Amino acid sequence: MNKTKKLYEGKAKIVYETENKNFLVVEYKDDATAFNGEKKGKIKGKGVINNKVTNHLMQILEKENISTHFVEEISERETVVKNVKIIPLEVIIRNISAGSFSKRYGVKEGIVFDNPTIEFSYKDDNLGDPLINEYHALALNVASKDEIDKIKSIAFKINDILKSYFKKLDVDLVDFKLEFGKTLEGEIILADEISPDTCRFWDSKTHKKLDKDRFRQDLGDVEGAYFEMMNRIIKN
Ligand code: UDP
Repeated sequence: MNKTKKLYEGKAKIVYETENKNFLVVEYKDDATAFNGEKKGKIKGKGVINNKVTNHLMQILEKENISTHFVEEISERETVVKNVKIIPLEVIIRNISAGSFSKRYGVKEGIVFDNPTIEFSYKDDNLGDPLINEYHALALNVASKDEIDKIKSIAFKINDILKSYFKKLDVDLVDFKLEFGKTLEGEIILADEISPDTCRFWDSKTHKKLDKDRFRQDLGDVEGAYFEMMNRIIKN
């Protein structure tokens, strides 16, 4: 599959059209941003790691009957994916308190929830991806009621699969962000990425953070943490 034209360049990825309208090529960059683009940097090798990690996890989910946009990895940084219309919602699942949850509700990090939570942000950089509820999403015509219900049930199923998968790697899946897309046939499938950029991973024993919080919070050893996660993932 050959790239024909650059379609879109985001903060961490570039998306290209191909000769076939059903497929796109995604290229993962080393660029890192945080706090809605206010903090910028590079994490050496991140693009290669996130490409590999995302594809590995998408294939695990496919085996568990979750439909994803993954088609084929074509180079260290590039993957062919199905062409979907991204639903402008960031779907966030949390198992343990951290990040904006702790800040918003004034609670410490590390509280293990009895049940996972779900929340939606409206994907709009100019607005800073504001938190919205399902009624707002319906009012904004972002998705239908059925589509939102479907997204919620797939997201919780993904959480069950990934939580137990990471447990075996001695990693606690703290929280993560998913994005869904609609195929040309109207099917809702998992899109975007699942990587240390979009998940919080804590080592189960040492509680060391193995994700983008090392970059956000200047904790050091950012590359090492991404590399450690990749190594644990590709072996399993
Ligand atoms: N997240 C993401 N992209 C975003 C916002 C959040 O991938 O634009 C991920 C983030 O890495 C974390 C989870 O979603 O794993 C929950 O993030 P949170 O709401 O705590 O926001 P943050 O603290 O990252 O601002």
